Amino acid sequence: MVMTATESGTSASRSFGPAVALSCRECGERYDLGPRFACDFCFGPLEIAYEFGEVSRESIGRGPNNIWRYAGLLPVPDSVAELPNMNPGLTPLVRADRLAAEVGLRSLHIKDDSANPTHSFKDRVVAMAVEAARTFGFTTLSCSSTGNLAGAVGAAAARAGFRSCVFIPAGLEEGKVVMAAVYGGRLVAIDGNYDDVNRFCSELIGDPAGEDWGFVNVNLRPYYAEGSKTLAYEIAEQLGWRLPEQIIVPIASGSQLTKVDKGFRDLIKVGLVEDRPYKIFGAQATGCSPVAQAWENGHEVVQPVKPDTIAKSLAIGNPADGPYVLDVCNRTGGSVAHVSDAEIVDSIKLLARTEGIFAETAGGVTTGVLRKLVAEGTLDPQAETVVLNTGDGLKTLNAVDAGVTATIKPSLDAFKDAGLL
Ligand SMILES: *Cc1c(COP(=O)(O)O)cnc(C)c1O
Repeated sequence: MVMTATESGTSASRSFGPAVALSCRECGERYDLGPRFACDFCFGPLEIAYEFGEVSRESIGRGPNNIWRYAGLLPVPDSVAELPNMNPGLTPLVRADRLAAEVGLRSLHIKDDSANPTHSFKDRVVAMAVEAARTFGFTTLSCSSTGNLAGAVGAAAARAGFRSCVFIPAGLEEGKVVMAAVYGGRLVAIDGNYDDVNRFCSELIGDPAGEDWGFVNVNLRPYYAEGSKTLAYEIAEQLGWRLPEQIIVPIASGSQLTKVDKGFRDLIKVGLVEDRPYKIFGAQATGCSPVAQAWENGHEVVQPVKPDTIAKSLAIGNPADGPYVLDVCNRTGGSVAHVSDAEIVDSIKLLARTEGIFAETAGGVTTGVLRKLVAEGTLDPQAETVVLNTGDGLKTLNAVDAGVTATIKPSLDAFKDAGLL
């Protein structure tokens, strides 16, 4: 659809497709679309508000084989598919019959986001932030990252022609460090945990030095966060335009989980799927489980914790969207659960052994929570269930102790003698 400036009103409305405003998630105050992320009145987080035009299954089906097929439901310009970007999405929804049988479910799919360009779900959110950064004229892309985001920003900045400078906590997995550094931007490790990195970035944004910097998950967060809705859109389309009945989503800041819910509600609102109930379940590692603890204790506020887990991509001790996650899981009839590091490793191996999918630790967390919730009777074994794998095991190799079965001399006798037949 091509509109002239007069037809569409302001130029901002054309730059952001169906998005019309930023609105405060706490008090509902509205703002023009811009690089702001907090309400001036109540300091609540801002999110994108839309006026959707006509979107049909056919128009989506004719779109590109990536997230831009859903451009009519996202804060992006009509020209988005022609701009240089990473084009993530349309990752496989894998039918997981062997894992289903092993844990005791009738119907299970894995949404495998390790298939994205930088091998994690983060390419989806960064793609949105890059379009916003272009519109706002930022020249440097930045982020505070638990690992995967740094790589996604580095790659997207390289392709779209931005400088990049990304911040990670010191001591991340080698796979994530190399993946973040290889694209040629600056990679800075901060001596502290993710929450320290995040605090540092907030300071930098307030300083003139950070003036033309787009921090994808801070001052561009409202745009960034919308990228997670594409997981919901794809799952529904890949199931034949149907919502799953149960879905298990990992929680770091909690943004992804709340936007998967927003995505499902968008689809109902525009009439692309039938309005039927779905339950959203959140998954954390025991060593960083502030949202699961709040859920267990029936609290509405989330008490920050100091992370200590191998699931480093989910290690956010003070999750920004924690209270909203509690709301979503409560409203949909889901829950929030956690699994230990040993269960994470076990579940990575289970997923690999049954379905041939090598997940990073975050996928071990969701698979572990799946197993736990089926065993304790929280999940309905008859209901259509989807589990998210949000990252690639090649980035967290040290988490698993897999190795060769045996080392032998190159002779048939040696092979037979080793008892391997
Ligand atoms: C960032 C990340 C998530 C979820 O992040 P949220 O902050 O909760 O949106 C999930 N899995 C992996 C592998 C990630 O890197």
